[in-house]
Order: sequence, then structure tokens, then C-alpha cells
Amino acid sequence: MKYNLPYQDKYGFCNILMSAIGGDGANTVGKMVFELGVHQFNLDGGYDAKYGSEKTGTPTSVSIRLCPDCTNIRFSGPTLFPQILIGFHPRVLIKQNFHKNLPEDATVALNTTMTPAEVREELQLYGGRVITLDAKKIVEETGSRLNMPMLWVLVKVLDFPFDEVEAAVAKKWPAFKETNLSAFHQAEEIFQDEYFEPDEKFKQAPEKASGPSQIGYENMPYGASLPAKYFLSDPHPERTEALGSTPQFDPDICIHCANCDLICPDPGAIVFDEQKMQGINSTYCKRCMRCVTVCPQTKKGKALTMPSKTKEEAK
Ligand code: SF4
Ligand code: SF4
Repeated sequence: MKYNLPYQDKYGFCNILMSAIGGDGANTVGKMVFELGVHQFNLDGGYDAKYGSEKTGTPTSVSIRLCPDCTNIRFSGPTLFPQILIGFHPRVLIKQNFHKNLPEDATVALNTTMTPAEVREELQLYGGRVITLDAKKIVEETGSRLNMPMLWVLVKVLDFPFDEVEAAVAKKWPAFKETNLSAFHQAEEIFQDEYFEPDEKFKQAPEKASGPSQIGYENMPYGASLPAKYFLSDPHPERTEALGSTPQFDPDICIHCANCDLICPDPGAIVFDEQKMQGINSTYCKRCMRCVTVCPQTKKGKALTMPSKTKEEAK
């Protein structure tokens, strides 16, 4: 299929940067988009992701560099100068200054209740396209994760065929197909999209020389000198992984089958003592909801249910 990238820098690359926090699923959908580009649209490129602990919600940066097949590779590594910037949490993006390295025609897409004009003011963007949507609200309404509405935005900017992306989402999470696609489609209903001509209202980003010569021991972004305080200990109040809280547990329904303990990826999250399920320790639970999926349906209902559902709804 013939496909044209929406941006290409002087090296032939379309550079995308997704800024999120651990548990949002940005890395998963980033890989999905990269694989679709390579397998379906005859693209090539590079993929890099930096992420820390999901439990503590450390910042995640996903770099996707796409180019037409057979483009000469002049440098590798994550993009530092994205033409498409996707922000799952504006505060995290701003704190890392990702919006300071944008070309004048860049696209910025944010999960926010702000309008595109308000985002332009907040980020002091020289110009370019701004897309906003309240993805958090979609997550709360559908029970999906932030990565679904944000994936929709990225697919729209890239102009990938939506049906191919939907098929990939359904294949990746068959048990959550309806929930995820519902969140995916809701993004289309509420997004706002505006283009701002560069009008000198704000200064353009300083001219940058691109390429690896700019990176050294002192300013190496990945590894080397990381600002540990920010990367390791910043509590992220806007974290909205899954539904934002741990699954609900009803001990009266539990049959102590231990399915939840077997599937839980985080030691300590499921508290199993004296061969009985005692509950969930929210300090270690990363809200992935896998335990809810495997908890058996009994005549009384499921012992573990999604946080937004009442006991009656869960039956
Ligand atoms: S999977 Fe459900 S029923 Fe089984 S031990 Fe866990 S909470 Fe109880
Ligand atoms: S499986 Fe359940 S208890 Fe374990 S991390 Fe996921 S949501 Fe939390």
C-alpha cells in the first residue's frame, strides 16, 4: 500500500516522541505503531523506549523514528527533535522540556481539558498543529487505559488506516477488545484540532545542530547523568493507569483459588496468607487488572472486580 509520512526531516525521518508515565501503556502502543509501519506500510526506522518502574509511575519516553524503506541511516538512537509530540500528562512533558525542541510546523497532541489555543499559550509554541482531548475522562468512562485514546491521536496524525490499527488492537488484547476499541473511538468524538500559523507571538526554538555530536557525558539523555530526584521519586498525582485504583475485592465471594496470585506480575500485590486470599496491597499493585480477568465467575459474582463497578454491576 502507498503511504506517505506526514513529516520528513532532512535525513528522511518522521520523528515521534511520546511522553507518558509507567503503567500508561505508551511503550506497548508505540511498538504497535512501529510494527504496523514496518510490516504494512513499507517503512523502516528506529524504536527506543525509556521507562522505569510501573508501580512508582516514573516518566516514560518512547521514540519512534519512521522513514521510507531503504533510507540511509545517518544516526541512531532516540529522537531529540520530534515533529510529532504526544503527551499523556502535560506536566510530565513540560518538566522534561520536550516542547522546547519542536520545529515550527510540529504537531503537539495532549491529554488535557485545555483547548488547543490554551495549550499553545501554556507551552508557548511558535506555531504548528495542536490536538487536545480529555483522554482521562475516556479512561474513566470506558475502563480502558490512557494508551487507547492517545493511540487514536497518533494514528490520526500519522494518517494510518484506522481499520488496520483496530485489527491490531483486537488481536493484541482479545479479552479487552470492546473496552479498548470503545476508548479508541471515543477519542474521535471529543478531540479538538487547531493549526496556528507562526506569528512571532512566541519565540522559535533556537537553531539546533542535530546529530550525535551534540550528546556527551554531561548532556546524555539516557543513562549517564539522569536527574535522579525527578526520575525516581516524583509522585505523579495525575497517574491514571487503568482506572486509577486497585481492583475491588469481596472476601465473601472469594473461593481462594489463587488464580489472581498466579497471574499477578508484582510480588506483594496479592496478599495470600494461610492459603487464603486476604486482599490487595495498593503499594505494590500497578492496576493492570489481570487478576480481575482471571478471577472466576461464581453464582455470587466475581470476587475481584474493576474499581468503577459496584458489586451489583459486577454480577
Ligand atoms: S482469583 Fe478471585 S476467587 Fe480466586 S483467590 Fe483470587 S480473588 Fe479469590
Ligand atoms: S494482577 Fe491485580 S493485584 Fe496484581 S498488579 Fe495487577 S491489578 Fe494489581
